[in-house]
Amino acid sequence: MSTVAVAASLKYPELENYIGGRQRTAAGAQLLDVYDPRIGHVITRVPLSTSDAVDEAVRAARAALPGWSATPIKERVQIFYRYRQLLEQNLAELSALVSEENGKVESEATAEVLKSIELTEFACSLPQITAGEVLEVSKGVECRIERYPVGVVASITPFNFPNMVPNWTIPNALALGNCMVLKPSEQVPISANRIAELLREAGLPDGVLNVVHGGRATVEAICDNPGIAAVSFVGSTAVAKIVYRRATSNLKRALCLGGAKNHLIVLPDADVDLASGNIVASMSGCAGQRCMAASVMVAVSDTDRIIKRMVEIASQMVPGRDIGPVISREAKERITRYIDEAESQGAKVLVDGRNAQVPGRENGFYIGPTIIDYVRPEMRIAQEEVFGPVLVIIRTPNVDEALRIENASQYGNAASVFTESGGMARYVTERASAGMVGVNVGVPVPREPFSFGGWNESKFGTGDITGRGSIEFWTQSKKTTTKWNKEAAVNWMS
Ligand code: NAD
Repeated sequence: MSTVAVAASLKYPELENYIGGRQRTAAGAQLLDVYDPRIGHVITRVPLSTSDAVDEAVRAARAALPGWSATPIKERVQIFYRYRQLLEQNLAELSALVSEENGKVESEATAEVLKSIELTEFACSLPQITAGEVLEVSKGVECRIERYPVGVVASITPFNFPNMVPNWTIPNALALGNCMVLKPSEQVPISANRIAELLREAGLPDGVLNVVHGGRATVEAICDNPGIAAVSFVGSTAVAKIVYRRATSNLKRALCLGGAKNHLIVLPDADVDLASGNIVASMSGCAGQRCMAASVMVAVSDTDRIIKRMVEIASQMVPGRDIGPVISREAKERITRYIDEAESQGAKVLVDGRNAQVPGRENGFYIGPTIIDYVRPEMRIAQEEVFGPVLVIIRTPNVDEALRIENASQYGNAASVFTESGGMARYVTERASAGMVGVNVGVPVPREPFSFGGWNESKFGTGDITGRGSIEFWTQSKKTTTKWNKEAAVNWMS
């Protein structure tokens, strides 16, 4: 089929960048196929933009910056009140789009967009939260601190939350007066253009948000562009390290969130229904493609009743109805290889999601919930991020051994403990080496105004990416000292 004929058969027109308030063709860019993972069909193509498109977007952002940053924050957030309303009005359409390009089931996609609404609500509260400080520091002398935007910033996002992760950064960074270049995942690029359209409809001036599509070369151009002052990144640890090193070596501030391997420590006194339900939901939700997903269950002493119930729940889940596909054929193959290898090394597959089939969707990238028992800590599946609906169980005799296993992970995004004992819960949460910790919670995502961010190799840079913790990253403070009258003596502080 000719290129023109293929383009005509796509569900969505080939994507363009969004720069200075207009769709812009990425000159000279190769096009990459974008799939609906539920059916394995190409639905559009996305340009892999070169540094020229990044330059153009930075120029547009820099042109918009003086006007936008000088707009009082109370006026800036009016746009986000309207944007919030548009997200709500278009909830069904935005959720369907998330399902289409990412594959997650309808309820998960809806939850993702609802989370974007919550993130936007936080941005609307920023005038209240960021009001400055002022103090008379000696007679007639006042110090005041005010927050200023950093300038033109970039946000680079992963495939697993096409709507929510861009909204981790856009509302806060923009409400605080910055202009942005967003580089969404090339695997799920459609939601980003829709977000830009909705913000335009909400009244965002042209150039304040620009979307440049692409992959590695586009990200490298962002890290190297002298017009960009700050880079935020969410994705795998390997790439987070590359981006952090490259952006900071170009003297930008950077906050790079990486991958995860979250441990759930399950004590024998845990409530059977609460623990089993939460653990299975955590490992299988979004097909395990969440940086907060349960990955390792560290089963302390006798937890067989809980494991038995988990197996019952997971076995009843129907791929295509209760669990969506993973993002690509390559991801499905990678996850399957991890399971095969663990099994060949002596682990016992209790629930097997390999070869999952969904009638009528035989080309979809499905893999069912998978629970593997008797995994040893040194196995690859116990150490590396699998990023699929796979839970491994490591059995330990006591809680200190369980903590040693959790602490040994290179990652540190989330950890949870399941127990009925407040004292044991405190013992574990104090010692877990993770930035987000739960007690009887499978997915301990802090909700606004609390901020999101891990430890160890799950995050590079200081501060967090959402909530109060993001304010420091998206702003710089100005400290002004003023003498108001003659009472202000000339002294050692003058
Ligand atoms: P990824 O690292 O492959 O891609 C993320 C972004 O980096 C994309 O925009 C991609 O285009 C770009 N990229 C990919 N390779 C690059 C390279 N070599 N150089 C420069 N840029 C490159 O991640 P993904 O597969 O899209 O997303 C899944 C990963 O994201 C998982 O590891 C998951 O744990 C992580 N994640 C982390 C968090 C968190 O909060 N810590 C949240 C969501 C996802």
